[in-house]
Amino acid sequence: MNIAIIGGGAAGFFMAITVKKNMPDVSVTIFEKSRRVLAKVGISGGGRCNLSNSFEDVRDLKSVYPRGNILMKRLMNRFDQKDAYEWFESNGVPLTTQDDNCVFPESQDSHSVIDCFLRLSGKLGINVRTAHELKDIAKVTDKSSGNVLYELIFREGCKEAILFDKVGITAGGQPRIGTMEYLQNLGHKIEIPVPSLFAFNVNDPVLRSLTGATVDEASVTLASTNFRASGPLLVTHRGFSGPAILKLSSYAARYLKEKGYECTLIVNWTGGKDNNTVAGELLSIASLNPQKQLGSVCPFCLTSRLWNYLVSKAGLPVDKKWAELGKKGINKLSNILTDDEYGVAGRGHYRDEFVTCGGVSLESVDYNTLESKTCPGIYFAGEILDVDGITGGFNFQAAWTTAMVAALSMCGK
Ligand SMILES: Cc1cc2nc3c(=O)[nH]c(=O)nc-3n(C[C@H](O)[C@H](O)[C@H](O)COP(=O)(O)OP(=O)(O)OC[C@H]3O[C@@H](n4cnc5c(N)ncnc54)[C@H](O)[C@@H]3O)c2cc1C
Repeated sequence: MNIAIIGGGAAGFFMAITVKKNMPDVSVTIFEKSRRVLAKVGISGGGRCNLSNSFEDVRDLKSVYPRGNILMKRLMNRFDQKDAYEWFESNGVPLTTQDDNCVFPESQDSHSVIDCFLRLSGKLGINVRTAHELKDIAKVTDKSSGNVLYELIFREGCKEAILFDKVGITAGGQPRIGTMEYLQNLGHKIEIPVPSLFAFNVNDPVLRSLTGATVDEASVTLASTNFRASGPLLVTHRGFSGPAILKLSSYAARYLKEKGYECTLIVNWTGGKDNNTVAGELLSIASLNPQKQLGSVCPFCLTSRLWNYLVSKAGLPVDKKWAELGKKGINKLSNILTDDEYGVAGRGHYRDEFVTCGGVSLESVDYNTLESKTCPGIYFAGEILDVDGITGGFNFQAAWTTAMVAALSMCGK
């Protein structure tokens, strides 16, 4: 039997290794379009590869997989984060779980993962062909057996001489729908790809002067929508980033694309406290510090720079005394702390992680096997599927889970 795997990334190697471990006699070949395999693993997690998450704080998979949570729930019954942890440790990559539940190689170096995959693929006799960009797949019926086989056609104009019994498609996040035309031609529905996990650009020169300011727990909302996220917030030289914003960009990926990345962002700097609670806390600060200036007592663990900026934005002088605030002043401050509006003017490019929302529709695959519904013998795994997660190791976990299930299905398990 000949098996082709398209894409030499995380899911492709995991799939190839699993197939070969379970069926040592089959020929497995990975076809990778670029000259280097596993490039994204190398740069992931800032070069440390956040390869999974303990899921300790995850109550609902939808909060970490805005697309594909139902599929992930089903597949994780077969291969979850604990299985992935065990897999890496038993294959020579000791792991460590951080306080924030993110899982990394103990070496803190993504090359531990790359070396593991290359060592295993070499040992198992997996063929790897780089500079092979798949452009098309043709269905061929074997005259003697009547079985459907697949012919692979590459950009370079070459056709692979042999026909493949099974094909694993692990071509990763695809930036444009055109790059998936060959899959559409085979009857697969494609959810239009749009970016996810990005920073927000904001036109506010004064805010930009606060570049580097962080808040440990903020809550961010898109005005007139239910899209909301919370977590650490970072002011950048272009606007906002940090886990809260990246999560929001993921939850609202399609909406933001429709709006051309122009909308109103509302920041609650207090981590989600409501206006009345905040006003109450400000009143007690005022009664404890009546003679101090507003700018010298920073509430809600805000840095002095950030607090002074917010006081000014609320239209109050920073040298005003707390005792002189009055009800109107307290209201101005509680409003700015809980309902601080910014005009989003474009998306930024987050250096550390970026994924595609969209791809092969889950309607086109069998939920138990990840086999194509229109092409028996073609399986999908990784980011090519319409499954994507927030930051924190969830995207690699989706790659391991889907690749493992697809590979076992290929092996009839
Ligand atoms: C900078 C960055 C950092 C990240 N950090 C993390 C992290 O720390 N933790 C986390 O969970 N996630 C992270 N991610 C997301 C994670 O890298 C991806 O979700 C994951 O790599 C998906 O694996 P994959 O195998 O499906 O796709 P990929 O790793 O993208 O692999 C797909 C491969 O297919 C090849 N290919 C594409 N089209 C073709 C074709 N037509 N023919 C042949 N080959 C083709 C590509 O060249 C690529 O090598 C990060 C992403 C980025 C961009």
